[in-house]
Amino acid sequence: MEYIKKRIRDVYDFPSKGIVFKDLTTVFKDPRALHIIGWDLSQLYRDKGVTKVVGIESRGFIGGSILAFELGAGFVPVRKPGKLPADTLKMSYQKEYGTDTIEIHRDAITEDDVVVLHDDVLATGGTMAAAYELVKSMNPKKIYINFIIELSALNGRSNLPADAEVSSLITY
Ligand code: AMP
Repeated sequence: MEYIKKRIRDVYDFPSKGIVFKDLTTVFKDPRALHIIGWDLSQLYRDKGVTKVVGIESRGFIGGSILAFELGAGFVPVRKPGKLPADTLKMSYQKEYGTDTIEIHRDAITEDDVVVLHDDVLATGGTMAAAYELVKSMNPKKIYINFIIELSALNGRSNLPADAEVSSLITY
């Protein structure tokens, strides 16, 4: 894990003043780090019968895809409004200023699926909580929640459903 940690870039005051942005592009561009991330994420779910990994736009698409590939599962995108071409389900949620909406294709998940929801970073947890509700409304057998990085000072776990199994590779 030290190999990964060393390659995470802290970008100060991005996207706005006071934020320390955990940049994973410096991890993903390193072939060995990319391989380790895929392997370590997949070890968390090897025996769980996962059939779909749901990645959250846009940074969740990268880790989500490699996790799906490692598990032999399918990949499903959760996107911002108006991006998915076919019939969608939508979920709106409260942000610090105003609301945001996310969408998923209506036929993306079935009641037979075991799902891992993936995003790169857990901050306040608002986005993931909305994605969880969206996927839950499709009644899969089980939903796991997964991050590469968890920013524990922001206490995002408290915004995630109490019954959800949450795993992060790296906690700050
Ligand atoms: P959240 O506040 O948990 O809803 O986070 C919203 C989105 O912004 C998530 O996709 C996170 O990956 C991303 N994000 C929030 N804060 C950071 C940060 N400090 N570094 C990197 N990504 C972040």
